[in-house]
Amino acid sequence: MSKKITRREFVQTGTAVGVAIGGASAPVFGKAPALQTSSVKPVVVASNNGNVYKNGGAQTGVQKAFNLITRGTDVLDALIAGVNNCELDPAESGVGYGGLPNADGIVQLDSCCMHGPTKRAGGVAALEGVRTPSLVAKAVLDHTDHHLLVGKGAQDFARNMGFKIEDDLNTEKSRGLWLEWKRRIDPEHYLDPKKRGQASHMAGLSMVRDGLIDPMSYYGTINCDGVNAKGEVCGVTTTSGLAWKIPGRVGDSPILGAGLYVDGDIGAAGSTGRGEANLYNLCSFLIVEQMRMGKSPKDAGMEALRRIQKNTVEKRLLNARGLPSFGISFYIVNKKGEYAGVSMYGATYAVCTENGPQTLQCEPLHPGRATD
Ligand code: ASP
Repeated sequence: MSKKITRREFVQTGTAVGVAIGGASAPVFGKAPALQTSSVKPVVVASNNGNVYKNGGAQTGVQKAFNLITRGTDVLDALIAGVNNCELDPAESGVGYGGLPNADGIVQLDSCCMHGPTKRAGGVAALEGVRTPSLVAKAVLDHTDHHLLVGKGAQDFARNMGFKIEDDLNTEKSRGLWLEWKRRIDPEHYLDPKKRGQASHMAGLSMVRDGLIDPMSYYGTINCDGVNAKGEVCGVTTTSGLAWKIPGRVGDSPILGAGLYVDGDIGAAGSTGRGEANLYNLCSFLIVEQMRMGKSPKDAGMEALRRIQKNTVEKRLLNARGLPSFGISFYIVNKKGEYAGVSMYGATYAVCTENGPQTLQCEPLHPGRATD
């Protein structure tokens, strides 16, 4: 178990790394090294749940990841330890164990991770029975020549790598919510198939409105990206995907370039929200490319949101103003440690720096909130 750390120790830990790195570089003209001479201030950014869930411990995900990074842990290992908080916490119903299941009541998980310095990647999709898909994604990165394993193959791989395979990742909470959803969509068993999709969506939304489901968990994912004092950038995304999805549906989260993209020479971007909108535009890749061309993390992220808006033309996805009716957010960090959270509508994101963990407002493309 991780040792409880006070805020004072926490801040000192961050500073101590700055000192160590300052001490290692040559003093300028005999002057004593300044307290913080590293050009990169370590930072971890994540979706909002990164600063909520502690899985019974003392630290949120971003806090844990930041502490590990500043103590010298590999950036990707630190970020994965951070998102494990969400995956394992039974109260978090959008990620890992206790994530909201698919339409058949089965929890199917997606994840991917990228390691900037070594330019390696791994991912799993529609994985059943393992609470921490991020660690299986990391095993794909570490132990195979491949970037994505899916379904039964992903589970067999996990078993062979020594992961515990469980029959059912539902918690009482996620199973209860699935039953309630079933009750709402299928009261008489025979709904017109054309109306069923709509009924499913409306039932889900009504459960959000009734306060049964946190809007963040209906879609629900954690993306977490970070950089250390050496400018090493990594990222990880993990999710149970869209609640009540068609079994086998894979969203953006495990897809390199969509739910996550890292180029160790530039930075990282990752996403939560409507995966289909992101898959169509490969926005994490787009954002990293925009940063390569010189844009700041915020400006690069806004460009991706504008691209999504431009490519969203189906009426069912537009609100009364003709704008995308869904929420989608991006969390971005560059190699210099500059960062941003951007979203289609108002949303929050998590960040941890030497000043401690914070929940901040994303820069919205449009005012107001997503209507679904
Ligand atoms: N993007 C995820 C997916 O579409 C869901 C989410 O982030 O809320 O599977």
